[in-house]
Amino acid sequence: MTNNRQLRPATQLVHGGINRSGFGETSEAIYLTQGFVYDSSEAAEARFKGEDPGFIYSRYANPTTDMFEKRMCLMEGAEDARATASGMAAISAALLCQLKAGDHVVSARALFGSCRWVVETLLPQYGIESSLVDGRDLANFEAAIRPNTKVFFLESPTNPTLEVVDIAGVTQLANQIGATLVVDNVFATPLLQKPLELGAHVVCYSATKHIDGQGRCLGGVVLSSKEWIDENLHDFFRHTGPSLSPFNAWTLLKGLETLPLRVRRQTDSAGRLADFLADHPAVAKVIYPGRADHPQADVCARQMSGGSTLVAFELKGGKSAAFAMQNALEVVRISNNLGDSKSLITHPATTTHKNLSEEARDELGIGPGVVRLSVGIEDVEDLVEDFDRALSGL
Ligand SMILES: *Cc1c(COP(=O)(O)O)cnc(C)c1O
Repeated sequence: MTNNRQLRPATQLVHGGINRSGFGETSEAIYLTQGFVYDSSEAAEARFKGEDPGFIYSRYANPTTDMFEKRMCLMEGAEDARATASGMAAISAALLCQLKAGDHVVSARALFGSCRWVVETLLPQYGIESSLVDGRDLANFEAAIRPNTKVFFLESPTNPTLEVVDIAGVTQLANQIGATLVVDNVFATPLLQKPLELGAHVVCYSATKHIDGQGRCLGGVVLSSKEWIDENLHDFFRHTGPSLSPFNAWTLLKGLETLPLRVRRQTDSAGRLADFLADHPAVAKVIYPGRADHPQADVCARQMSGGSTLVAFELKGGKSAAFAMQNALEVVRISNNLGDSKSLITHPATTTHKNLSEEARDELGIGPGVVRLSVGIEDVEDLVEDFDRALSGL
């Protein structure tokens, strides 16, 4: 596989980055080893000097983890990557490795709960200022810029209400002041949105979600240019140790092989369910990036190549209707995870976003009747029937 870059994504996700041992195994090998042995003292010296490119210690790099990083780079069009133990390890490393006391971060306020805690609570503890803005309007990012602004951070579509941020627009603002744009691309998946092509400098994933896609393990990855990784993340990653386990890297490699099949099916089913729910009398509102009535349908069309595997919707009957519907579902399971083969539903106001103030939840449109549905790979007719039955009982 010398010409991986010319192959299409679905092919790269099966073959890309593979590094076979002398046994010629078909499937990627799992190298469950902490360290590596050297043939001689001179060989060890050369390895540590960087004259010999082999492995030194699995906190720095490991052959299985390396295959996962290379396959992700091919998918994303990135020069380099570091795989991490979880999505939060990826995002906190991507932010902390490049920031120091006195710097300022501008972030869209609609963020995954733990990302919001890092930006709003953790960074200020280290003397890093942060501003949270309504990311739906580019003017808010611009108005928040200070002389010490170093990083812009956003996710799009957002959790849980699937708001969309104009990635190319924020890139332009960042480039004007020499700042770095970090995008959390979990909700879009690497297939439906390409932040690096839109100009973003760094992309992060929780591989726990669609990349594993089968509810098995945690993982994450940070992707960027070789220059950015060398200058910012390389030493931070080696010495703070957020490394991904080789076993989990192997699980994620297997997940990548089927990612296009799953995401295509999930997105098609999500579109079908979004239309069904939008027409249902118990539903007040559906937010789905693939529908023409999405509040930022024009931005979706510009930067995404498909809808989403998630649907957010609001029930007219508020919290009691949301709870009753969730309890009545038989196929769709109640869980805060997403991107799984199994369809999962959650009530953000009482689970993933319960730690926000009511005011912050109102700002984000997370009312008591809002639920977030992550669509799985089941037969879509069974999912439609499940919702039909659960909603008819309201
Ligand atoms: C799940 C998630 C994370 C965190 O990932 P973990 O693997 O759970 O640490 C970050 N951002 C978004 C958008 C997520 O959905």
